[in-house]
Amino acid sequence: MGSLTGTSEPVLAYEAALSTFFQAAHSIAVSSGGAALQAAIHAVGVRPGDEVILTPTCPLCTVYPVMAAGAIPVFCDTRKDNFSLSLEDLADVVNPSTRAIIDIPMWGYPTPADELQAFCHERGIMLILDLAHAHGATFKGKHLSAYADVSCFSTHERKLLSTGEGGFIITDNAEIAKSCRDYSRFGNLNGVDFGVNLKLGGLQAALGANRLPNLKQQIARRTETAAAVAQGLRHSALREFDIIDGGHPSYYFMLLRHDFSDSAAFLDYLDSHGVPSDIKRYGCKCLYEFPLIAEYRRECPNAERLLSSVTTVPVHQGIGSTEIGYMLDHLNGYNGR
Ligand SMILES: *Cc1c(COP(=O)(O)O)cnc(C)c1O
Repeated sequence: MGSLTGTSEPVLAYEAALSTFFQAAHSIAVSSGGAALQAAIHAVGVRPGDEVILTPTCPLCTVYPVMAAGAIPVFCDTRKDNFSLSLEDLADVVNPSTRAIIDIPMWGYPTPADELQAFCHERGIMLILDLAHAHGATFKGKHLSAYADVSCFSTHERKLLSTGEGGFIITDNAEIAKSCRDYSRFGNLNGVDFGVNLKLGGLQAALGANRLPNLKQQIARRTETAAAVAQGLRHSALREFDIIDGGHPSYYFMLLRHDFSDSAAFLDYLDSHGVPSDIKRYGCKCLYEFPLIAEYRRECPNAERLLSSVTTVPVHQGIGSTEIGYMLDHLNGYNGR
């Protein structure tokens, strides 16, 4: 390490704390979630022309790093009731050019990562988890990152763990860890290994290390709030999004599933009453509907149905019983179709 890498003591301390929290062998602090994806995509060996499979329900932030690497994003449908990749559709799109698969547990609801791990392992394909929404989400008693070759996190100010801007990478694979570290630190300036500067600053690392101990408690509080919302739902067309067996969401947001045919009208109604939805905020739609991504279009009917039948509900620590009651009154009182 030392001065050549530009990695200061607070960064090393933060990385050690992350490894302990996630029970992982290696953590690499980087400057953003996008940077984490960029480094991880490079580290697992994705090179120009390779294919990377992902769901079209994820944010633009996940697909741009794939495109920046010169790789081809290939869209695979989601499951009917979960944002994870459908194994059946995955079997259809995977081919010898597939280098990696990215799964994204949207809004922190766990995906069946064990099935994806087995699928990838059998075929020698790398599994990347984009856990930008899922700090602390667990599946079958383990952090989701335990199932992936490499996991990417964001600590942008809006995320569960925040350093303003920032991100980190978690892996148990020493080779991938070294490659992420080298790539994000200018290849250690040795003129042999290629790299760019994606390092996290010491100030942000100190902030992250200070906030990390609060994460478990924060998730417990969010889980209670989500349970109170679920319990108070009386509307026959509204229910909490399915949680897979063995899964514990991070509750980055709570997800509700609805049966309304006019999803936009429902979201506008909530928004007009001060209950914001991420779906409206980001104009969430399948990525291939965006002009920049249109050339990679591959229809994903489950994904389209999922996105038009969910909304997010805030369950952050600022939400108390008054806010829960207010949201429930408006959710239960909706009389649109
Ligand atoms: C926020 C986010 C990113 C990007 O993280 P930044 O820190 O903003 O670069 C990537 N993927 C997902 C799923 C995100 O929510």
